Amino acid sequence: MGFMRASFDNSYARLPGHFYHRQTPSPVADPALIAVNEALADELGIDPASITAAAIAGNEVPEGAEPLAQLYAGHQFGNWVPQLGDGRALLLGEVIDRTGKRRDIQLKGAGRTPFSRGGDGRAWLGPVLREYVVSEAMHALGLPTTRALAAATTGETVVREAPRPGAVLARVAASHIRVGTFQAFAARGDLAAIRTLTAHAIARHYPDAETPLDFFDRVVAAQARLIAGWMSVGFIHGVMNTDNMTISGETIDYGPCAFMDEYHGGTVFSSIDRMGRYAYQNQPDMGIWNLAQLGSALLPLISDDEDEGVAIATEALNAFGSHFRTEWLRRFRAKIGLVTEEAGDEALIVGLLSRMSSSRADFTNTFRALANTGYAGHLVTDAGAWESWAPDWKARVAREAGDPTAIMRAASPAVIPRNHRIEEMIEAAVAGDYVPFRKLSTVLATPYEDGPDTPDFAKPPRPEERVRQTFCGT
Ligand code: AMP
Ligand code: MG
Repeated sequence: MGFMRASFDNSYARLPGHFYHRQTPSPVADPALIAVNEALADELGIDPASITAAAIAGNEVPEGAEPLAQLYAGHQFGNWVPQLGDGRALLLGEVIDRTGKRRDIQLKGAGRTPFSRGGDGRAWLGPVLREYVVSEAMHALGLPTTRALAAATTGETVVREAPRPGAVLARVAASHIRVGTFQAFAARGDLAAIRTLTAHAIARHYPDAETPLDFFDRVVAAQARLIAGWMSVGFIHGVMNTDNMTISGETIDYGPCAFMDEYHGGTVFSSIDRMGRYAYQNQPDMGIWNLAQLGSALLPLISDDEDEGVAIATEALNAFGSHFRTEWLRRFRAKIGLVTEEAGDEALIVGLLSRMSSSRADFTNTFRALANTGYAGHLVTDAGAWESWAPDWKARVAREAGDPTAIMRAASPAVIPRNHRIEEMIEAAVAGDYVPFRKLSTVLATPYEDGPDTPDFAKPPRPEERVRQTFCGT
């Protein structure tokens, strides 16, 4: 018997002691399970029935787990912060999943650590459910992401703008190694640590990388592909600080994130992003900015000569543009029913996007309407906009061999986690009603299918339902 029965094998805990601080979760008053992701538990080789409230809330540490808080640093909105680290999360340990992949299990909201600074080490129900729903939706959309294994309430109150119910999220990731993990050691001039961390990250994520430069190339490519994926579903991460960018290429940290309703490149939701640094259309540039920080941290491993190292790393970083463009074009071609490549495709895609922007068309519904009916003129409503685009598009699609409908339907979801639905779900949960949480989770599990609940969940917000700002999970 036991709590969360899993075969732990904790490679991070075997790294040098200054990479982390060993820390047990702080017990909570009255843990109660909200949800267990049984399919994911099964994938991890964990018996779902052994995932108890006590294990998720941190009151019982599973056998084989070696909880620790990871050290990292990072640039937050461009400002250097020499020490961040897990301040409200603990890495419980690692398991090898059924496909042989190593996965981290982390408890978010498990109490204070030496990296908590002024924080309480806790999370409240709202951000826990937001991350649960949105990360699982991201996975169902087919994009790399951390996952949600389970969530529990703590029976304790945490104080934010107001007293809120406390909660813990059990999160699963390929690893929690971030750009900021490398930065922490680079800033300390700890070359041995950077070497060790690089070797660890290569073994874990890019075993075919033969050199640190190869490794950097892989991370650049993985992040370029990821961000192109975000763009294709209208996702705005909201807080792309270097501590929130993984080495694995998984989406991490669902704080003030949001999916766009109306399409506009400058869209920003995060309350703390006043300058629009992480606006929708800035995300590729911000990805490059963050990867430049990783490149800097890796410089001494790339060349003994700094100038030479900079030149090599810069060239490697420049590949981001072509990786991003290739993946962006592939995804947006598919969204308008194209598999083959023609020179005019980009102009055709951009032509639609600019018409959507001037029409303030719903991003998801425009592409889905195109997919389902070949018509989106009721959404792309700016004067003459649809009529001036559709003939060229139809002519182009006619040059494709196959049926474009299936291509488009697989590239453009019917449902995304819309902000007003997330807010509604959180509000209900705080009042003790988890039905909206379950319903939203169910609908978002098959976002490319049209089911009985699709029309309702595909609806954009009414004016009074519109969410204008999202907030950090703190
Ligand atoms: P985030 O903005 O969520 O990426 O968090 C940035 C930093 O703040 C990380 O080092 C977190 O561990 C820390 N942090 C956020 N919320 C809390 C909290 N409630 N208690 C302690 N540390 C926190
Ligand atoms: Mg973070």
